[in-house]
Amino acid sequence: MGNLVAIVGRPNVGKSTLFNRLTKTRQAIVNDEAGTTRDRQYGKVEWIGQEFSVVDTGGWVVNSDDIFEEEIRKQVILAIEEADVILFVVDVMNGVTDLDLQVASILRRSKIPVIVVANKADNNDLYYTSAEFYSLGLGDPYCISAVSGSGTGDLLDLVVSKFPKKVEESVEEEIPRFAVVGRPNAGKSSIVNAFIGEERNIVTEIAGTTRDSIYTRYEKFGFDFYLVDTAGIRKKNKVVEDLEFYSVMRSIRAIENSDVCILMLDATRGVEGQDLNIFSLINRNQKGLVVVVNKWDLVEEKSDKVMKEFANAIRERFAPFVDFPIIFASALTKQRIFKVLEAAKEVYQNRTTRISTARLNEEMLPLIEAYPPPSNKGKYIKIKYCTQLPNTRVPSFVFFANLPQYVKEPYKRFLENKMREKWNLTGTPINLYIRQK
Ligand code: GDP
Ligand code: GDP
Repeated sequence: MGNLVAIVGRPNVGKSTLFNRLTKTRQAIVNDEAGTTRDRQYGKVEWIGQEFSVVDTGGWVVNSDDIFEEEIRKQVILAIEEADVILFVVDVMNGVTDLDLQVASILRRSKIPVIVVANKADNNDLYYTSAEFYSLGLGDPYCISAVSGSGTGDLLDLVVSKFPKKVEESVEEEIPRFAVVGRPNAGKSSIVNAFIGEERNIVTEIAGTTRDSIYTRYEKFGFDFYLVDTAGIRKKNKVVEDLEFYSVMRSIRAIENSDVCILMLDATRGVEGQDLNIFSLINRNQKGLVVVVNKWDLVEEKSDKVMKEFANAIRERFAPFVDFPIIFASALTKQRIFKVLEAAKEVYQNRTTRISTARLNEEMLPLIEAYPPPSNKGKYIKIKYCTQLPNTRVPSFVFFANLPQYVKEPYKRFLENKMREKWNLTGTPINLYIRQK
């Protein structure tokens, strides 16, 4: 189960610099991330074989100089609720400020591990001044220089050592895990209630974790799957619900622990920035996707034409990934509720699709021959063979070429589109690699 680290602190202490430093190595490898989530909001870190997510609470404020104390307070409260470890960044060049003391007083009341990160300790003299941060009452300040990177390796060791020892939940591997995600008021709790209904006996909470269990088994009407983090959906926090990054923070854990995400949109509001952020999280984690246009009961004109326009508008916003089911539903009247589950089930199956090498080559090679990759500087590019990689999270394919470096993004997209025409890959991301042969 993924751990989540939140970076908190007042503006200009170096949160964003630290975030970039921690996530850099990983992002250099994963450079094909589409989407709109600004990079400083959410990133992944891999350290001594452990992968975890980092969130920079400052990343949601456009101009961090204008940030209000109240807003920082809310962010810290949310970070405490959602994160496993908090990095409280302070600035050794400035010393302790009033705002630092306020943040510290909130953090002292929480039970999760907090590391005081004394940043901008660029030289030894500054190291010594960091002692004043003991007064925050949160233990030893940990000196780093986010700009130069000094101290960040040891800091990562410390972070990893503080992750809670989690009791493994006994989830059965072959049973799909669905997460219902979306921004506040999209109808997440309502649809979960519609699935589960009053019949409590079909819901089994799985015990055994330090937090609320995040998996709920659903077994009815021919469906058998886990709903991820339904407790998190029902437990609402009015203090922070209006914050822009609330829905993202809340979604991370559910998304990371799922196979397929059911993204709830509000038909009366269309696609907004927060929806795109969550979509981007789903994409970056390579999860399956079903989009639900909820509150369809409130839409007056429900013609096919209106639906088509709606669907096109959604796909336009989510491009280049456009091959996913869109279900027009109402959690309130329960219209098409089971269609949503059927779609999620289908996407799950698509995500585990295996295409035999023989069929793959039979279908793709004639096409590639008819429409070869454009030649580059007079050199012809030939793709001779393709195959699906075994044991990957999502269907992943390798195309072997004489000059792989010249096969560009548009051609890869062409191959992907053709594959999506030929096989049912709806709702699942796929990976295409071009390698040397
Ligand atoms: P945030 O508002 O907390 O996210 O702070 P930023 O990461 O934007 O950094 C604020 C300023 O401090 C920028 O000018 C950074 O270059 C600078 N800064 C960040 N880390 C360090 C550091 O380790 N040493 C020094 N000297 N400057 C730093
Ligand atoms: P959440 O914050 O995403 O969990 O959203 P809720 O499930 O709490 O729903 C937010 C509000 O929208 C509540 O007042 C619901 O009654 C209402 N709502 C949810 N789904 C529907 C729907 O399909 N139709 C209508 N008319 N209202 C809905």
